Amino acid sequence: MTEKSRWLYETAQRVIPGGVNSPVRAFKSVGGSPRFIQSAFGAYLIDADGNRLIDYIGSWGPMILGHQHSHVLASIQSALTEGVSFGAPNAREVELAMMVTKLTRTEKVRFVSSGTEATMSALRLARAVTGRDYILKFRGNYHGHADGLLVEAGSGLMTNEQKLQARSAPSSAGVPQAYAGLTLVADYNDPEGLQQILQDKGNMIAAIIFEPVVGNAGVLVPTAEFIDVLHSAKEHGILLIADEVMTGFRLSLGGATERLGLKPDILTWGKIIGGGLPVGAYGASAEIMDFVSPMGPVYQAGTLSGNPLAMAAGIGTLQMLRDNPDIYEKLEDYTERLEQGLLMAAAQAGISVCVNRIGSMLTMFFTEGPVQTYQDAVRSDTRLFALWFHEMLNRGVYWAPSQFESIFVSAAHNERTLEHTLQAAASAFLALKT
Ligand code: PLP
Repeated sequence: MTEKSRWLYETAQRVIPGGVNSPVRAFKSVGGSPRFIQSAFGAYLIDADGNRLIDYIGSWGPMILGHQHSHVLASIQSALTEGVSFGAPNAREVELAMMVTKLTRTEKVRFVSSGTEATMSALRLARAVTGRDYILKFRGNYHGHADGLLVEAGSGLMTNEQKLQARSAPSSAGVPQAYAGLTLVADYNDPEGLQQILQDKGNMIAAIIFEPVVGNAGVLVPTAEFIDVLHSAKEHGILLIADEVMTGFRLSLGGATERLGLKPDILTWGKIIGGGLPVGAYGASAEIMDFVSPMGPVYQAGTLSGNPLAMAAGIGTLQMLRDNPDIYEKLEDYTERLEQGLLMAAAQAGISVCVNRIGSMLTMFFTEGPVQTYQDAVRSDTRLFALWFHEMLNRGVYWAPSQFESIFVSAAHNERTLEHTLQAAASAFLALKT
């Protein structure tokens, strides 16, 4: 039964564009009507009609400990009793900054309120440090919705019906061509292509911003050769910005940077760093960060930046991850078994899929593998994915509602959720054959 969700969706569409406050939530690429969520606990969501769903979205990444984790709730509650916002410095900002810089081997960090703000600010900083205007990003990578980053972007933009088709054009209406023109685009996992751009235009580029593991074209893991060429950009005076909004504190305590041995100059975070409340951050060496106002000439500010409730949620989450390293082993083990189970169930039903997984991030592409590039990813049969998605939803499993997203496993997923998911997957694959 989904009557209440449907009624809420109809009502929402009258007062909110498309009925949602972030496009992928509207189920446009899989069809049907989105579920409205009433509450969440552990690995489960409860929708407006009381249906219980195993949650593989985890608020698109932040809920790595599961919903309503007692330690995180206690941390937020203790902040709540002291006031919700001050607009003045607070000890919790210092505490979280100390934790983040230590875990990520940066020296200074600035808190903002979203991943978009973090990447936007990091680029301004890189332009100021280098005195150059151009930036380079990768096709299908998503870094939030700041104007200059909505160029050949991933995530919801990959399934956006209104997508503008011209190459190098903005992915969204309303982004001035002149502004988008400062964003150069290369292919992820194409070392030769990147090398060519570096040779031709390296001395004009302020920064290369990249997802250290892509989640927003579905999961794509960088090859060693690609990482080598990325690192060589430094020889051209280019700053590397690792956008760890999705991967930070997820792929390890030190993020994808630590896991893959990357050497970025600037890092950006979001999602887990706020434990489910609105937080983003960017960090680097003190030398680079001291370009930021009030120390330096790069202006960046925020009424709610460093909000005490948001800091408390981040502190609670990072404390749990830091003090319980076995969480990462558990996440790895669960997601690996999920991967193997999905591959087996698909093979038994005679359906070709390719599962890309690293740590607790996973995408099952409806195509034969390998899937290493954006071009490989878009070969997926999105029609088949949409059918499978609804078969799963009808069986109580809430997968990401787009082929080109990662799913996220949390520490609250367990044997019971795994068994339920794999049984649902087996019958969902078989249903595709009928
Ligand atoms: N960067 C990456 C890699 C992301 O995945 C996202 C969001 O999904 C963002 C930036 C933007 O973050 P936010 O949605 O908090 O603005």
